[in-house]
Parts: sequence; C-alpha cells; structure tokens
Amino acid sequence: MHEWALAEAVISTILNVAKKNNAKKIVEAKIKIGNLQQIDPDILTFAFQELVKNTPLKKTEVKLEPEGANFKCRVCGFEWGFENVMNGLEVNESEAIHFVPDLVHTFIRCPRCNSPDFEVKRGRGVWVEYVTISK
Ligand SMILES: [Zn+2]
Repeated sequence: MHEWALAEAVISTILNVAKKNNAKKIVEAKIKIGNLQQIDPDILTFAFQELVKNTPLKKTEVKLEPEGANFKCRVCGFEWGFENVMNGLEVNESEAIHFVPDLVHTFIRCPRCNSPDFEVKRGRGVWVEYVTISK
C-alpha cells in the first residue's frame, strides 16, 4: 500500500503549490519516480486516479516518468548509470536492487576502479518535478 501513501503525498504537494500561487486551474503535473524506488507504476497511477476524484486535480494531466539511477564513485569520481551495469548483473540481483535499493552496494562496484564506495546521485525517491497552473 506504499503507492497509495505516495500518491496522497504527491497530491497534497501539488495542491499546496497551486494554493500558494493562487492557481485557478492545475493544468499539468509531472512526477518523477526513481528507478531504485520500490514502486509499481501501475498501482501508483491507479491510486492517483482514485484519489484525485474529488479534488481540483481531477482534470489535471498527471505524467509519471521514471528516472534512471546514477552513481558517482567517491574514490575516482567516475559517474555511471544503472543501465551500464545492469547487463553484468544476474536477473535476481537486479530485482533485489529494485526492491531493496540499499543492496546496490552489495552488487555494484565502480566500473573504473572497482571500489564499492560510491554515492547514489539519482534514482531514489519520488518527487514532483513541475506543476503547470493557470490563473
Ligand atoms: Zn571509482
């Protein structure tokens, strides 16, 4: 039921933005979903559609967009994307990472210097990228 709580949080964020800007209408909103987040986009979309029914958001076009994960090595500074290392992983490993993002450090190493010490720069969390309103 994780997705429902998220949809609720996203909706209240959008409503707050609209209120602060005296919006008459909320035209469009874009939500980014990090690839490492444990989210089912179909459930999230469904939760959204259900939850906006009695809100000013019911006619808003809400776009959900996945965001690829990105890593940066703390040792050599090399940056790389999840896609680049996916092919070297077993299917069960990439699934484990998808559901337990912290496992990423167990399975992935810097492609350049082989260090397990890297930060996750992108691909975590769910956030509202922008809200388009009309006044
Ligand atoms: Zn490195």
